[in-house]
Amino acid sequence: MFFTVEEISLYAKRARLTSRKVSEELRGWSWPEPPVLPPSSRALPVSDLSGSICKSGRIIYLTYVKWMKVEPSVEALRGGLIHGAYVDAAETTRRLIYSGEALDGSTLRFLMADQYYEALKRLREYSSVPNFETLVKWIWDRATSTFSASLDKARDRSHSTKETLASIAVPFLVEYPLDGSLVGVSPNARADAFLPQIPMIVELKTGRRRRSHELSVAAYALAYESQYETPMDLGLLCYVRTEDGITYRCELLVVDDSLRSEFLEERDLRLKVLEEGVDPGLPKYCDQECPFLQYCGGKVRS
Ligand code: SF4
Repeated sequence: MFFTVEEISLYAKRARLTSRKVSEELRGWSWPEPPVLPPSSRALPVSDLSGSICKSGRIIYLTYVKWMKVEPSVEALRGGLIHGAYVDAAETTRRLIYSGEALDGSTLRFLMADQYYEALKRLREYSSVPNFETLVKWIWDRATSTFSASLDKARDRSHSTKETLASIAVPFLVEYPLDGSLVGVSPNARADAFLPQIPMIVELKTGRRRRSHELSVAAYALAYESQYETPMDLGLLCYVRTEDGITYRCELLVVDDSLRSEFLEERDLRLKVLEEGVDPGLPKYCDQECPFLQYCGGKVRS
C-alpha cells in the first residue's frame, strides 16, 4: 500500500514468475465483440458493476432508475476516510517535494507533521467516523515514515531532480484515472493506486473479503486494456485493518479467464437492469450490509 521501489521490484519479480494465460476474446481490447462488448451504451462505476452486495441487481434499479438515496453506512464512511487519508498523504508528499520545500527525509517529516492538521480539515466530510483523528494519524504517520526514508535513499543518488526524488519517494500513482466506457465501466473510473512499472492496479479494501473485490480488479484490468491496448494480467488486492495502528495485507491476483468472465456476467446483468429500467426483484438472500435492506425487506442469511 505504501509501496517502496524495493517492494515494487519484488512484485515485478513475482509477476514475471506467475504463470497466466488469458484468452484473446476476454481482453479489454476485444470490446467490439461479445463477450466483452457491453449490452448497453451506458456505463456504471466499478463498485456498482462488480456485484457488490445485491445479487439480483435491484440496487441498480433503486439507485439509477428510481434515484433513491440512502445514507452511507459507518463502515462505508470509514473506508472512504482511510482511502482519502492515503491519497492525501501521497499527494501532499509529492507536492512538498515538487515545491522544493522538502528535499530530504527530516524536512519532509517536519512538514508532514504540520500538514496533518490541514489533512484533517480536507477530510472533514468523514469527521463523524469514530476515532476520526486517530485513523488519519495512523495513516499519516505510516506514510510519512515510509516516504521520508525513501526520499533519503533517493537523495543518495547523485544529480537527483525534484521529479526523480518525487518518483522514488512515492513510486506509485494514486487515484489513477481510467476511461472504461468501451467496456461498460464509467468514463471517469479511478483505481485506488497504480504501479506503472509492472503495470498493475491496486485496490484498497476495508471490511471482510468479498468476491466482488476481485471482480473490481478485473473491471479495472479490462478498462485499462480497452484504453491502452496493453495487457494487464495481475492486480493487487490490499486489505487494510485499523486496530491499534494500521496494518495491511496485499494479495497478488491473476486476472484470468474465469475472473474476467464472472465480471462480464455481473456487468451484463446490471447494465441490462439499467437499460430496461425494470425492477428485477429481490435475490434469494440480501446482504446484511445493504443500505436498502429496510426498504426492500429482503431475507438475510442467518
Ligand atoms: S435490500 Fe436486497 S434487494 Fe434490496 S438492494 Fe439490497 S440486496 Fe438488493
